[in-house]
Amino acid sequence: MPALQRPEPRAGVLKIQAYVPGKSSAPGVAKVHKLSSNETPLGPSPQAVAAYIGEAERLHDYPDGAATALREAIGRAFGLDPARIVCGAGSDELLNLVAHAYLGPGDEAIHTTHGFLVYPIATLAAGATPVVAPETNYTADVDTILAAVSERTKVVFLANPNNPTGTYVPFDEVKRLHRALPPHVVLMLDAAYAEYVRRNDYEAGIELVATSENVVMCRTFSKIHGLAALRLGWLYGPPHIVDALNRIRGPFNVNAPAIAAGVAAMGDAAHVERSRAHNERWLAWLTEEIGRLGLAVTPSVGNFLLIHFPEAKGRTAKDADALLTSRGLILRRLEPYRLPNALRMTVGSEEANRQVVATLAELLGKSA
Ligand SMILES: *Cc1c(COP(=O)(O)O)cnc(C)c1O
Repeated sequence: MPALQRPEPRAGVLKIQAYVPGKSSAPGVAKVHKLSSNETPLGPSPQAVAAYIGEAERLHDYPDGAATALREAIGRAFGLDPARIVCGAGSDELLNLVAHAYLGPGDEAIHTTHGFLVYPIATLAAGATPVVAPETNYTADVDTILAAVSERTKVVFLANPNNPTGTYVPFDEVKRLHRALPPHVVLMLDAAYAEYVRRNDYEAGIELVATSENVVMCRTFSKIHGLAALRLGWLYGPPHIVDALNRIRGPFNVNAPAIAAGVAAMGDAAHVERSRAHNERWLAWLTEEIGRLGLAVTPSVGNFLLIHFPEAKGRTAKDADALLTSRGLILRRLEPYRLPNALRMTVGSEEANRQVVATLAELLGKSA
């Protein structure tokens, strides 16, 4: 082999399409409504903000590398053993830790057609190969996931509910998936939107984690808790997986202000309830009003909806995005998610929601 002229990353690294975050500004528009990253319009709990500010005097000290207070607060809130919880700098970090601990060259990790983009990125970064299992009606399909399993499969990533589709897999189906997976395969349940789901047949994964050796669940403070800027997530898993992740994570991966804010957020159930109630009302309203305009909306159980556009010139997702952006309404384009003619809209404030519907009505030449 000829000597390399400069350092080269491992092959998988350059196959990665870097994650493109939702836009946060619109050229020439002063006031924008950012509806592109599933942040909450209600913001964080005031108690979480106060706890964050309270840490300002102690920035010279390293945080508690075990995030003990936060794991205990989560344990209390959900009735879980804190020893089986790992906190991370966002659930993104936790998904990557799982990939790095369980995947390597020659291994495969499965995700679904419109699954969260962090899964293939984490898989490729670990040197492994992402395998796509087709969805049915924009919903993860247990049978296609099982059909994609090979001897090389080491991890199955399942966002439940999924982003950007908003659909979910009922608990019976998740259990059926788990039962049929080989016992050495990690079933990674990403429940970033669990708090928003109002369905009797949904379970985030706690029960399955508690009763098995190969299921992990991750959750985030970025969505209903409104703390996306702090980068905070947590994972619940069997002790042997928790042990592996604790060996490879950064020793101080979660910062002190984030720990303090997270503890306070866990203690403010009333704030979570307000966010949930706001979402329930406006998700239903948006689904109804946008549907009434003649656009297909995939039924969502999260805090966002997937809106499908016609192919007709002037009415495509691209055209809608241009008009909405010119009005300061920033939604998410979905080309990287293989949904080129759809937009994802985060449920926003009443004002933002009404403006989106009015703008879409204008685009389609209808009265809202
Ligand atoms: C937003 C989101 C997350 C959360 O990511 P953080 O790193 O915790 O901010 C995780 N999974 C899915 C599917 C998401 O949409």
